[in-house]
Amino acid sequence: MKLSVVVPCFNEEASIQRLVDVLTATLSSMVDSFEVILVDDGSRDGTLDRLRTVARRDDRFRYLSFSRNFGKEAAILAGLSEATGDAVAVLDADLQHPPALLAEMLPFLDRGYDQVVAVRTRTGDPAARTLASRLYYRLVNRMVDVKFEDGVGDFRVLSRKATNSLLALREYNRFSKGLFSWIGFATATVDYENVTRETGESKWGFRTLLNYGIDGILSFNSRPLRAAIHVGLVVMVLGVLYAAWVVVDAIISGVTVSGYVTTISAVVLFGGLQMILLGIIGEYLGRIYLETKARPHYILQEVSTPVTGSGALTEEIEARSTCCQQSPNMASEKARPTISERTA
Ligand code: UDP
Ligand code: MG
Repeated sequence: MKLSVVVPCFNEEASIQRLVDVLTATLSSMVDSFEVILVDDGSRDGTLDRLRTVARRDDRFRYLSFSRNFGKEAAILAGLSEATGDAVAVLDADLQHPPALLAEMLPFLDRGYDQVVAVRTRTGDPAARTLASRLYYRLVNRMVDVKFEDGVGDFRVLSRKATNSLLALREYNRFSKGLFSWIGFATATVDYENVTRETGESKWGFRTLLNYGIDGILSFNSRPLRAAIHVGLVVMVLGVLYAAWVVVDAIISGVTVSGYVTTISAVVLFGGLQMILLGIIGEYLGRIYLETKARPHYILQEVSTPVTGSGALTEEIEARSTCCQQSPNMASEKARPTISERTA
């Protein structure tokens, strides 16, 4: 069996060498043959240089480099579409996804599973974050049609079938957690201990996480729009009842010009409510806008394929980036962290 390993790398200068050493050591004993596809997601440090060196030394290591930062989801997509193996593993460059765990994950493929997911325990996480993510998953699973699991990130092994199915989904907003779940297939899970990042910095702050959370809810269905209708109905019923009461009160006791407090409260409340509902609609509209532009998911500026004559690289790159343009949809422009990773 040939295994492909896809690794998104964004400013991972400090992690690359260790990653390559660990992968070489673990993979050689695990599978007959392997390839590692390192995707440089527009890094601004020396990541690309390191990748060039690595690819020169060992031809089992290949790299792709984006013209700018397109986000982890785009990097994973690029890696998956380059992968030639019978199975594809996706893991982080910072070794938070221990490659040794693949030894436990791969046997599941022989047992007929098409996806093997590594589920991280929350050891060492701040309590507040753990709580927040538990609540989030509870809420989200009530709101979306696909199932999101706590602790599940992008660390997983996909069979060729699952990889191809994933590649067939060309949408621009790639919430990969949801996509993995959406394609279905028999999925096995393997637990692993949370590993803290050893070098470099995590790229996720609170705001990124919050936005990622909102993405998770909006990417997979239109239930928030339905919820808006429900809220509207409830508010309308309350409004009609209140208006009836005001009329009756006016008939019985005449009109006294008071009610300043009620008026202001109502204006503020409904103003806020309308803004939120408009926001929800706008959010979907924005997504439709991005999807209809049908832009490629990423643009390659360099690939590790041996270059022969001059101009070959450019042709190669053009061929590859247009392959994605034919698709009706497109990919994420911003970095979209995995909440499971993050909330961790
Ligand atoms: N990453 C990427 N593009 C980005 C952000 C992150 O390719 O815009 C990669 C990063 O190099 C790493 C993985 O995604 O291999 C996970 O990122 P990070 O470790 O920052 O996230 P965390 O582990 O904290 O969730
Ligand atoms: Mg990390």
